[in-house]
Amino acid sequence: MGAEQKINQLRNELRVHNHNYYVLDNPTISDYEFDLKLKELQALEVQHPEFFDANSPTQRVGGEVTKNFETVTHEFRMYSLDNSYSKEDLQDWETRIKKLVDGDIQYTCELKYDGASMSLTYENGLLQRAVTRGDGFQGDNVTANVKTIRSVPLHLKGDYPPKFEIRGEIVLPFDGFNKMNEERIANGEELYRNPRNTASGSLKLQDSAEVAKRPLECLLYNIKGQNIGIRTQYESLEKARAWGFKVPDASKLVNSIDEVLNFVAYWDVERHNLPYETDGVVIKVNDLQQQEELGYTAKAPRWAIAYKFKAEQVSTKLKSITYQVGRTGAITPVANLVPVELAGTTVKRASLHNADQIEKLDIRVGDEVYVEKGGEIIPKILGVDLSKRLETSEATNYITFCPECGTELIRKDGEAQHYCPNYNGCNPQIIGRIQHYISRKAMDIDGLGGETVAMLVNEGLIKNYSDLYELTKEQIIPLERMAEKSADNLLDGIAKSTQIPFERVLFALGIRYVGETVAKKLAKHYKSIDAISSATEEELVNVDEIGVKIAESVIDFFGSPENRLIIERLKQFGVQLELSAEALEGQTNKLEGQTIVVTGVFESISRTDLKKLIEDNGGKVSSSISSKTSFIVAGANMGPSKKEKAEKLQTTILNEYEFLQKIEYM
Ligand code: AMP
Ligand code: ZN
Repeated sequence: MGAEQKINQLRNELRVHNHNYYVLDNPTISDYEFDLKLKELQALEVQHPEFFDANSPTQRVGGEVTKNFETVTHEFRMYSLDNSYSKEDLQDWETRIKKLVDGDIQYTCELKYDGASMSLTYENGLLQRAVTRGDGFQGDNVTANVKTIRSVPLHLKGDYPPKFEIRGEIVLPFDGFNKMNEERIANGEELYRNPRNTASGSLKLQDSAEVAKRPLECLLYNIKGQNIGIRTQYESLEKARAWGFKVPDASKLVNSIDEVLNFVAYWDVERHNLPYETDGVVIKVNDLQQQEELGYTAKAPRWAIAYKFKAEQVSTKLKSITYQVGRTGAITPVANLVPVELAGTTVKRASLHNADQIEKLDIRVGDEVYVEKGGEIIPKILGVDLSKRLETSEATNYITFCPECGTELIRKDGEAQHYCPNYNGCNPQIIGRIQHYISRKAMDIDGLGGETVAMLVNEGLIKNYSDLYELTKEQIIPLERMAEKSADNLLDGIAKSTQIPFERVLFALGIRYVGETVAKKLAKHYKSIDAISSATEEELVNVDEIGVKIAESVIDFFGSPENRLIIERLKQFGVQLELSAEALEGQTNKLEGQTIVVTGVFESISRTDLKKLIEDNGGKVSSSISSKTSFIVAGANMGPSKKEKAEKLQTTILNEYEFLQKIEYM
C-alpha cells in the first residue's frame, strides 16, 4: 500500500473511532489502540507533508496560536430566545402564533444547554469555519480552537448538503469541569467559577493546544442554509445526527402545549442526571414553512420560545440599600447583601428596580431576604422572611434627592422610575452618556474605555461628547495610565468615529427611548438630524412604530438649547449627521403609508430580500392580514385561512413578479 493510501485509510479509521467514542459514547477499540493508530498517522504525515490535510484527525491536538480573532459577519443572524416561565406564558405564545399561521402546529421540545453558542459552516462535508455568537450580527472566528473539540466532526458522512451552517452550544460537562478545578486546587490556583463561563472562556484562548486539553463538547440544534431540502426541525435534528454531529436524543416531537408541559416536568427532575448543565427547554414550531411565516422580532424568533426551569433560591441578609444614577438619570435602588453562594456564583448585590418594588416587598435593612438567580439575569429579591424581622427595623424611605448631585428627584405620572432631572450637571449622567456614545454599537471608539471617560469628565476636560473632538495630546498624556502611544490611539479612535453612519450616531446621542431600532427607523425616515430636530410631535408619531413616549423624548431632546449646540459642534467636527449617498441608494417612497403582508414561498427572491425591498421603498411589513393591509405579496402555498381572510376583506393579492413590477424593480 502506498503512503497516501495508508494515510487515508488511517484517517478514515480514526474518524470512525472518534465518532464512536465522542459522539456515540460507544468506543469499539481501546484508548491504547486508538493512540497507536494516531501516532502511526502522525509519523506518516511528518514523512509526507505533501499529503497535509487541515481536517486530519491529527489536527485535533491543536497548536495554532491566534493573537486576534477575526471578526466575521454571520450570514444568518444569531438570535436570542424569548423566555417563558409558566403554563400561561406558553399558552399566550401559542395564541399569538396561531393567529399568524395556518393549520395545526407541532412542536419540538429540546433541552436548553447552558454554554456558549456556536455557528459552524461546512462546505462539501468539511468544517470551514467556527464563529461565536458575538452580538448576533458578528462574532469571532475561533475555528482553530473548535477543531480541537472531538465531538465536532471535521469530515461529515452521509447525504449532507454542499453548503450549510449548523448551530449549537459548546458545553463543558461537570466531570471535566471538576477535573479542571481539581488541578487548579493542586496548583494553588483560583478556581473556575462555573462550566458555562469556562466553556466560553476556553473558546477565546490564544493557544489551541490549551483548548485541546479541555474536555469541551459541542451539542447541535439548528441547521441553516439555502435549499437544504429539510422540512421540519425534528427532521433536521435527525439529519444532523446522521451526518455525524452530536445531537442529544432528549428531543421530542409533540402536538400540544400540554405535552410540552409534560416534557418540561420530566426534565426538570431528570436534568440533574445529565452530564452537563441545562437551564430550560426550548420549544420550536416544527414545520419550517410555518417558521418562515412567523419570522422574527427584533431580538428573537417568533417560532421558538425558551421555558426556564425554576431558578435556585437562597436566603441572606440585607446590609444596606444604595442608589445608582444611570446615564438617563434614572435611579436604581440596589440591595447590598451578605455574600452568599447561589447557582455557582457569589451574590453580593441585587437590583430592587424602583420605589414601588421596595414598597411592595416592604424590604428593610437588616431583613433576611430570599434571592433567586437564573442564568445571566441579575439576582432578584423575591421576598422577605418576616419571621426573622427585627423588632427594631424601620420601614425604608425612598430617597428624594439625587445621591450624586443633590437635585430633587422627579417621577412622571405613570412611570415607575425616579429621575434626577439635572441632565447636564449630574456626573454619572454625563459620564454614562459619553460612555454610551463611545460604546461598540454606537460610535465604537477604539482606544477609549469607560474608565478613561470618567477620568476625563472628573478632570474637567470634557463635559459632553462633542468635547471629545477637541481633546489634545497635551491634555491627555498627563492622565493616569496614559502614554504617548495610548494618547495617539485615543485621538485616532475619536477621529475615526466621524465615519460612523448617521443611524448609529443618532443612537449614540443617547436620546431616551431611542434605541438601535428606533434610531434606524428615524434615520431612514428623516434622513438628516436637521429634519428630525424640526419635526413636530404629531409628525413623529405618524412615523411607523414611533409612539408618543418616543416622540415626546425626541422633542424634549432637541428642545434643549444646550443639546442643539452640542449637535452643531458635532457637525463642525465632521460627524455624520445625515444619511450617506450610499445609504440613500435604492430608497424610495413608493410604498409610503402602505402595510404589506408577505406570505408563501417565492421563486425569484428570498423572503428576507422581499421584506427589505418593501422597507427600502417606504412600506411596512406586517405578518397578519387585517383591514389595514394595503395588499398581499403571495408566493406558492399561501395558507387556506390567510386566503379566506384576504377574500373576505377583498384584499389585493400580487404575485412576486407583479410586486417587483409595481415598484419598478425589474
Ligand atoms: P438566551 O441566551 O437566554 O437568549 O438564549 C438563547 C440561546 O440559547 C441561544 O443563543 C442558544 O445559544 C442557546 N440554546 C441552548 N440550547 C438550545 C436549543 N436546544 N435550541 C436553541 N437554542 C439553544
Ligand atoms: Zn443628579
